[in-house]
Amino acid sequence: MNFSFWEYESWINNIDYCIVGSGITGLNCALEIRKKQPSAKILILEKGILPEGASTKNAGFACFGSISEILDDLKTLSEEEVITLIQKRWDGLNLLRKNLGDRQIDFQQNGGYELFTEADSALYEQSMSAISSVNKLLTPVFGESVFSETSNNFRFSNIKPRLIYNRFEGQIDTGRMMQMLLKKVHTENIRILNGMEVISFTDGNSAVEVITNQFKFSVKKLIIATNGFASRLGLEEVKPARAQVLITKPIENLHLQGTFHLDRGYFYFRNIDNRILFGGGRNLDFTGEETDITGTTSLIQNKLRALLKSCILPDTAFEIDRQWSGIMGVGATRQPVIKAISSNVFCGVRLGGMGIAIGSLVGRDLANLTLNS
Ligand SMILES: Cc1cc2nc3c(=O)[nH]c(=O)nc-3n(C[C@H](O)[C@H](O)[C@H](O)COP(=O)(O)OP(=O)(O)OC[C@H]3O[C@@H](n4cnc5c(N)ncnc54)[C@H](O)[C@@H]3O)c2cc1C
Repeated sequence: MNFSFWEYESWINNIDYCIVGSGITGLNCALEIRKKQPSAKILILEKGILPEGASTKNAGFACFGSISEILDDLKTLSEEEVITLIQKRWDGLNLLRKNLGDRQIDFQQNGGYELFTEADSALYEQSMSAISSVNKLLTPVFGESVFSETSNNFRFSNIKPRLIYNRFEGQIDTGRMMQMLLKKVHTENIRILNGMEVISFTDGNSAVEVITNQFKFSVKKLIIATNGFASRLGLEEVKPARAQVLITKPIENLHLQGTFHLDRGYFYFRNIDNRILFGGGRNLDFTGEETDITGTTSLIQNKLRALLKSCILPDTAFEIDRQWSGIMGVGATRQPVIKAISSNVFCGVRLGGMGIAIGSLVGRDLANLTLNS
C-alpha cells in the first residue's frame, strides 16, 4: 500500500490499541479503553463491510438461561458456579441497558417462556418440578422468584399444556444496538477500517506485527475479539457454531409477544413487532454446523418452516421474508475466554449464545485486562 504521509500518520502509524473484530465485544472494549485513556490511538479492524459475526445476526433475546439450561449447567457446575454465571449475565444485561439506553435499543421486558414438546415428557416433568428449587437458588441474584408456571394461551400445537414463564426476560432490537455502539465509537474518535482481515500476528515484545489481507503494520497492543472465527488466529479453545434463522413477513393480528425457548433451547422464537423470528436446529447436524462459513441448509430451514407450521402458528397463515445464519463461538464450557496470549496480545472470545447478556462485560473486562498488563 502506498500511503500518503497524511494517511499513514492519521490511520496507521503509532496505534496504541488495535482491536480485531467490530462485534459487541470489540466495540465495548474500545469504548472502555477510551474511557480510561482519552488520548490513546485506537483502531478497530473488521473483515466485513458490515460487522460480519454474530452481533448483527442474532435473535436479540435479552436472556440469562431457561430452567432446562440451568438444570443442564447444574450437571457440570456447582450451585455457586451457576449463581455466578447467571449473576454475570444479569449484570451484563443491566450494563448494556445502562450504556446504550432502553429506548435506543428498543428493550422490551415482555417475558420469556419455555415450551416442551409432547414427546419430551421427562424434561417437562423434571423442569416443572425444579421451578421452586431454581427460584430459591437464584434468590441472591434477583431477590424474588424468577420462574413460574403458566398455561399455553398462545394456541401452540403439539406442545405440553403448561409453560414456564420468566418475567425478567426481555428482547432488544439487535440492529439498533449495533448502530448505537458504532455511533458511540465514532463519536469517541475510534477508527474502524472495514474489509480488513487479520491473517496473522507476531508479538515482538516492544510491538506486535500485524499482517492483514491489505498490508502489514505494527501496533503496541493487539486485542482479539473475533469470537466464532478465533480458531483462524490459532485460538483452538473456540469452535465455530453456525446458527440459522428465518423471519416471517408481517402477520395480521399476531397473537404472540415475548421470547420463547423450545426443545432445551435448540429452537427459539420471538416476535419483532408483528413478525416471528425463528432460529435453531443446530442439533440436527452438529458436524455440518461446526463451520465459520455463513450459509443456510435446506435440512435446517425446512425443519424451521415445518415447526412454525405444525407447532407455533398452526392456524395462522404466514410467509417467510428472509433467512440467514451467523457464527457463534462455543467450547468445552459456557464461560468466555478472556486472557493474555502473550505480553502484548489479548483475547476476549467464546461468548456462546449469550453475547447480548455478556458482550458488554466481556468487552469491559478485556479492556481492563489489556490496560492493567
Ligand atoms: C443466529 C444467532 C442468534 C443468536 N441469538 C442470541 C440471542 O438471542 N441472545 C444472545 O444473548 N446471544 C445470541 N447470539 C449470540 C451473540 O450474538 C454472540 O454471542 C455475540 O454477538 C458475540 O459477539 P462478539 O463481538 O464476541 O463476536 P461477533 O459479533 O461474532 O464479532 C466478531 C467480529 O470479528 C470479525 N472478525 C473475525 N475474524 C476476523 C479477522 N481475522 N480480522 C478482522 N475481523 C475479524 C467478524 O467479522 C465479526 O464482525 C446469537 C448468535 C447467532 C449467530
